[in-house]
Amino acid sequence: MGRFDGRTAIVTGAARGIGEGYARALAADGANVVVADLNAELGEQVAKQIVADGGTAVFQQVDVADGASAQALADAAIDRFGSIEHLVNNAAIYGGMKIDSLLTVDWEYYRRFMSVNMDGALQVCRAVVPHMRANGGSIVNQSSTAAWTYSNYYGLAKAGINSLTQQLATELGWSKIRINAIAPGPIDTEATRTSTPQAIVADMVKRIPLQRMGTPEDLTGLCLFLLSDEASWITGQIFNVDGGQVYRS
Ligand code: NAD
Repeated sequence: MGRFDGRTAIVTGAARGIGEGYARALAADGANVVVADLNAELGEQVAKQIVADGGTAVFQQVDVADGASAQALADAAIDRFGSIEHLVNNAAIYGGMKIDSLLTVDWEYYRRFMSVNMDGALQVCRAVVPHMRANGGSIVNQSSTAAWTYSNYYGLAKAGINSLTQQLATELGWSKIRINAIAPGPIDTEATRTSTPQAIVADMVKRIPLQRMGTPEDLTGLCLFLLSDEASWITGQIFNVDGGQVYRS
């Protein structure tokens, strides 16, 4: 018996990294998982691997910045599984540490970045929430400690995610839909490895009381708890998971 038996969970940005970890953990705990990502090649592979491991999963390509694409994602989940109980808004463009100044960043790039990293979560909520209204549901948004620290438009988008979580919690609580956010510190994923020079990573780790980067596995327990019925009276909260990084700074 899994905690999510008979329930459907959509995870965006699930083709690799943290989102892949969430999708695999949800499938292992009984959920029918929709692996949703812009990257079809990797996303298909993740869905196939989940099925090979005995879980239930399908891949659906989505651009979370595009309302029609988000709607097609919700429709595909309903067509395949008949209901949607859980959503993890994890997809993002990871800018790494070498991010341009807010004052000089190319405007077109900035608009696309915000459309994916901030508006994307709202686009998917707008498509999915109508399917949750009858029976309730739960949503986890992926934030970052960057919302509280200096990191230009990446931090700005994540601060938007935090506020979106709080605004929607108030609006959706009346429909028994809960929404919370996880704000990780630096997590060791391919995105971090390829975008952040090792010297910067080492310097960051020195300032983390628990003295290491996090792993996707450090986040999955909290994500599944927040989605599950065990968290049935928790909504509108933002949880730092950061080895003590924010507490110390
Ligand atoms: P990642 O780059 O490995 O994964 C992001 C996924 O999102 C990719 O599979 C990518 O294809 C997908 N994606 C990008 N744009 C998309 C779009 N428009 N539509 C649909 N899918 C899209 O990154 P990660 O390190 O696994 O990070 C995942 C999440 O965690 C992100 O929200 C990131 O901001 C957040 N986060 C990461 C860290 C970290 O240190 N890695 C720390 C805090 C928060």
